[in-house]
Amino acid sequence: MPELPGSRDAEVIVVGAGLAGLVAARQLVAARRNVLVLEARDRVGGRTANASIGAGKITEMGGQWVGPTQDRVLALARELRIETFPTYYEGRSLLDLGGKQRRYKGTIPRLAPHVLFDLDRARRKLKKAASRVPADAPWTAPKAEQLDSQTLATWVRKAARTKKARGLLEIATGTVMGTGTAELSLLWMLSYVNAAGGFDALIDTEGGAQQDRFVGGSQLISERLAGDLGEGVVLSAPVRRIAQDGAGLRVEADGVSARAQRVIVAVPPPLAARISFAPSLGGRRDQLTQRMAHGALTKCAAVYPEPFWRAEGLTGQAVTDRGPVATTFDNSPPDGSPGVLLGFIAGAEAIRHARLSEAERRSVVLESFTRLFGPDAAQPGIYLETAWAEEEWSRGGPVCSFGPGALAQYGEALRRPTGRVHWAGAETATVWCGYMDGAVRSGERAAEEVLDAEGWRL
Ligand SMILES: Cc1cc2nc3c(=O)[nH]c(=O)nc-3n(C[C@H](O)[C@H](O)[C@H](O)COP(=O)(O)OP(=O)(O)OC[C@H]3O[C@@H](n4cnc5c(N)ncnc54)[C@H](O)[C@@H]3O)c2cc1C
Repeated sequence: MPELPGSRDAEVIVVGAGLAGLVAARQLVAARRNVLVLEARDRVGGRTANASIGAGKITEMGGQWVGPTQDRVLALARELRIETFPTYYEGRSLLDLGGKQRRYKGTIPRLAPHVLFDLDRARRKLKKAASRVPADAPWTAPKAEQLDSQTLATWVRKAARTKKARGLLEIATGTVMGTGTAELSLLWMLSYVNAAGGFDALIDTEGGAQQDRFVGGSQLISERLAGDLGEGVVLSAPVRRIAQDGAGLRVEADGVSARAQRVIVAVPPPLAARISFAPSLGGRRDQLTQRMAHGALTKCAAVYPEPFWRAEGLTGQAVTDRGPVATTFDNSPPDGSPGVLLGFIAGAEAIRHARLSEAERRSVVLESFTRLFGPDAAQPGIYLETAWAEEEWSRGGPVCSFGPGALAQYGEALRRPTGRVHWAGAETATVWCGYMDGAVRSGERAAEEVLDAEGWRL
């Protein structure tokens, strides 16, 4: 892939070589259109990123799991000859709450019956409330503005009566959204849950979003897509300006200036807000991008000669309220060698963690791992960390969300094209919003919009 092609025109320019942008480009190329993809980073894949752990093996530092009903990303992977394998989930998981550690099987921890009842009731209430919020137009839900004027935290305070149930919902939200419940619009959260087919689908391993992984890592999907697009993908070319006039568009990126008839912007909304548009996109779209913020999620991976926790009958999954790590998973390669323990640090804790020195960060994470899995966890051969909120071209992860009051007012502008500019990206998806599957669906939808708008159907 060349780095600085200078001036290069295309029929469609796609901004961003994450899954959404690459899928859109692939679909347009399949319809025999001339497409140029401009990517800011020196790699493709965006919020998916493989990291080497030696001997030709990798672990994933960004999006990685897939599950049932994520049909579009699974179909794409099949087409690209990328297989899946089940997430390791044999044995018991750990719950470390209020200074006490217990082991449990399945998604629901072993807790006092009144806490379990409370948790179950809150989950059922969330599911019911979510079923009334259409994920493709949450602003049309009954009492949309009222729901949007509340945070998820307000709702949790009413729906869950015990401190433990509230604490667990906070930890689950942190890992799923990268944000505390106090920062999330209730309307957004209900729409998000509905787009996934329910809250359980978001948090479950078996039968849920964490069920399977891709052999070779999720970034391989983008690498194969980009390989097929060849010179149509230009790296290290952050787009700075998009100007529309009657004749089309001019896109200015570092080292590249190009004209096109249509542009698909496939970057997270807060990054789209950093591109200068001429003429301006109008108040509604601008207010929307000013109000959508990325979560903060840091992924930590410790690599050991073997997954020693398996021999002790542990899944490698843990939930803890002692921080900085909030949840852990077994992230070893398909053959279980070497052993990889993965930890998530979420929300404000991730921002605090990033301020520590490299040695301090490693040390506090390994303390968390050791407290949960014993002294064998103290000395990994390799320690890796990706703080997504520190990444210039993501500005956070895993997903951008709305705080209260904005979705009902400006949500309509999330997907609606602005002149010849179309919007893609996981946040614009109506099924599995925020996930790799949603990113794929959004790329397909944006490509269809362009083909329809230009009458380019084969
Ligand atoms: C830590 C973490 C864990 C996650 N876990 C999961 C999971 O297990 N399962 C799951 O399905 N999803 C998960 N996700 C979410 C998933 O990774 C994303 O939903 C998906 O990858 C988003 O794809 P995208 O193409 O919409 O956006 P991105 O991947 O963000 O792609 C946007 C691209 O645009 C580029 N860009 C930005 N600005 C510009 C510009 N001005 N000019 C040119 N290029 C630009 C970026 O560099 C990037 O490559 C996770 C994400 C993170 C961060």
